[in-house]
Amino acid sequence: MARDEYAIGLDLGGTKILAGLVHSSGKMLGQTLLPTASQEGAEAVIDRVLAAIEGVLATAQVERRSVRGVGIASAGVIDSAAAEVIFAGNLGWRNVPIGRLIADRFGLPVRLMNDANAAAVAEWMWGAGKGTQNMIYVTVSTGVGAGIISGGQLVQGAEGGAGEFGHISIDWNGPLCGCGNRGCLELYASGTAIEKLARKQVEAGELVLAGAGGALTTGEALTAKAIGEAALAGDRACIEIVERAGFYLGVGTTSLIHLFNPEVIVFGGGVMNASSILLAEAEKSVRERCIPSMANQVKFALQQVGVEAGAVGAAGSFFSWDGQEANLPIFSRKLYCKD
Ligand SMILES: [Zn+2]
Repeated sequence: MARDEYAIGLDLGGTKILAGLVHSSGKMLGQTLLPTASQEGAEAVIDRVLAAIEGVLATAQVERRSVRGVGIASAGVIDSAAAEVIFAGNLGWRNVPIGRLIADRFGLPVRLMNDANAAAVAEWMWGAGKGTQNMIYVTVSTGVGAGIISGGQLVQGAEGGAGEFGHISIDWNGPLCGCGNRGCLELYASGTAIEKLARKQVEAGELVLAGAGGALTTGEALTAKAIGEAALAGDRACIEIVERAGFYLGVGTTSLIHLFNPEVIVFGGGVMNASSILLAEAEKSVRERCIPSMANQVKFALQQVGVEAGAVGAAGSFFSWDGQEANLPIFSRKLYCKD
């Protein structure tokens, strides 16, 4: 690895914007945290994104020319080549050319990545997938997503949209999903699905959740994280809900293994981290269903890079390491000006 390379990493999330200067060792040196406040509109959010980058550059103790670029991790459907957010439900964005705006302001190359893909790169370079050529990162939070490293390269697809694991159908006749498909994995195994199921059972009076002294039975406390923690603490009803989600996650993961034959699957995301039962159950259902030779050699691991994985991974895409470089399109002002 070349010594002392730097890039700015920025994670554009539904609730917060996290930006920092990332060293080629994967360490984030100082960070800026701002609320996303997407209800104020795309322009206000973009202003905060630019301010966050400005802040990182202003406090960076390195020469500007040693900063290789700006890596952005964003939720939603993105076009990597144009560095444009095509659609992001949690931001209320459609066709926002964020890459061009950043390149215009700072004159730095910009890479825009889906947040799951960015976190996959972080785990691959510095986390639980280090040293592998075939790794899949699976995130379970509000939704379900994945980033796929195959043959030592990030699988991006034509526009950076590959890895929409949450929208693999596990029931052709299942409920309609927002994406247009039916029976998507996300409808059964995400944090949203866990909360929905628990709420339905509570409202029907079929279930009294004892967790957290009964506090879980009411309104906002009924989060997937709280349900996961209550399951871990031994609440029977919560255990059943989490086990069920884990079973479905394993059904979907089996398809991933059959398609990509990974060496390791790294699991992350807020809901996954809240309860080990989810991973244990997913692994159990994989072992029952998967082609035995593939099931026997795949390892299951928990994410090692922290909450900054998206930002760190997006910045990491600018670094070369062990003779490899992520195969991502770079958006730069030069490219933009050619149009
Ligand atoms: Zn779907």
